[in-house]
Amino acid sequence: MLEADTTSGAPALLPRGRQVDFAALSDPARWKPEFAVPFNQRVIGRKIAISNDLGDWLLLTQDEFRDFIEGRPQPGEPLYEKLARANFVAARLDLKTQAQRWRRKHHFLYSGPTLHAFVLTHRCNHGCQYCHSSIVGMDRYDTDMSIETAERGVDIAFETTAWGLTIEFQGGEPTANWPVLKHIVDYALKKNETAKKVLSFALVTNLSLMDDEKLDFLIDRHVQICTSLDGPEDLHNKIRIFKGGNSHEILLGWMKKINQRYADMGLDTNQYRVEALPTITRPSLTRWRDIVDTFVEAGCRAVFLRKLDPFGFAAKSAKTLGYSMDDFLEFYANAVDYIIELNRQGVQVMERHAAIMLNKILADEEPNYLDLRIPGGACVGQLGYAPDGSIYSSDEGRFVASMGDEMFKIGTVNDSYYDLMTNAATRALVMAGLNDGQPDCVSCLYKPWCGQQVEYNYKTQGSLHGHMRDSAWCKKHKSIFDYLMHKLEAADDRDMEMFRLWTTNRTLDHFIV
Ligand code: SF4
Repeated sequence: MLEADTTSGAPALLPRGRQVDFAALSDPARWKPEFAVPFNQRVIGRKIAISNDLGDWLLLTQDEFRDFIEGRPQPGEPLYEKLARANFVAARLDLKTQAQRWRRKHHFLYSGPTLHAFVLTHRCNHGCQYCHSSIVGMDRYDTDMSIETAERGVDIAFETTAWGLTIEFQGGEPTANWPVLKHIVDYALKKNETAKKVLSFALVTNLSLMDDEKLDFLIDRHVQICTSLDGPEDLHNKIRIFKGGNSHEILLGWMKKINQRYADMGLDTNQYRVEALPTITRPSLTRWRDIVDTFVEAGCRAVFLRKLDPFGFAAKSAKTLGYSMDDFLEFYANAVDYIIELNRQGVQVMERHAAIMLNKILADEEPNYLDLRIPGGACVGQLGYAPDGSIYSSDEGRFVASMGDEMFKIGTVNDSYYDLMTNAATRALVMAGLNDGQPDCVSCLYKPWCGQQVEYNYKTQGSLHGHMRDSAWCKKHKSIFDYLMHKLEAADDRDMEMFRLWTTNRTLDHFIV
């Protein structure tokens, strides 16, 4: 009865869990619901995983699970104490302590958005086949953000009730509007002399317009640099089309130079590196080993394996670059299995999805990754600022707008912060981002660690709430959680040490102003 589900058509590398058949396991007349706190369950390999709303979890044998639902363990017995320590025994739940713990993990509910993504221009010198932003040619200066709009946007960002904020520069290619980028950094630094927030900057760039003067400025102002690297040269250059030279060569050259600058400054090179992200396209699916190797060779310590999203140009090029969720999940499992193999050989590299999820599962932390939290990041976790001053629920909300649908526009830089945060659209988006309102989520083992993205639901299913049973979002996350749970179930001490290493959180103090 406890075999994993192999009939779902899932790739063999991704063993699926499934719900427990309670009636086959125990006579309902014996159940004692008052013994346990509310919990969810799922068959994982030959065990049954249980979780509660606090984020505690256990893997039980079939016999232990039967005893648990029948309320048979007695105080002092090993199973009772194991269940009580993990907060599954109602009579032993210390509500006050657990309420504090819940509050710690949901700290983001008590303040406004922390991530403020500024699109400085729609201009870009690359023509990436999957690009989801409404990019235009490099001569379209009319799509640049003006200094006035930028200042008003920064004013709004500083009104957030959050103690910390990150201003992220996006595009197009944001360095194409370099004067405004520089102005925002210095304007925000000046404002922060009185605001005294924990301020940081992040630049998402293809690095093709980088030069020594720009790099000196970015290093001097502690701006974190992130880029896109799709894998080995042939794959990267095929997808990220650049007429001005060899995109891959230029990118790796700058990554090396920037990493060397961090090293020369005495920063820990295990932490301070250019963060690179791949986008997985159809030609990538068989190249998982090459992609991981490229990241390792480029000095990256993490690979964030991101599925092609359904926004903008990516949707238009779906015929040539698109693939099914099962294809992605098979690729994902192959790639992470390879990453685990490399770790066993002493190579330090992790996969970001896995690290975020393991942080929640093993370290009991809330990394505030906006796609996997409740409520989702729309409006209350992030805001997206377009060059014309429009403000969106998120960067994804802006992508939807670039396809001609202003569904996620919640105002402009001329509105007050109060109006932006309290208007009807914002409230509807936040409400839709709650898993507690989703019929499938309420009974899902992974609810305490999962989350919603309303923009994704809207784009793929036509409704902010979506329908998780048929949702690719849910399938992706449930499958990755299943994959990790099966890894945890089979893990030896060496594997657990590796997974715990992936959950080690070090703040990048150098990038905090
Ligand atoms: S979205 Fe899917 S995986 Fe996440 S909690 Fe809901 S049902 Fe579970």
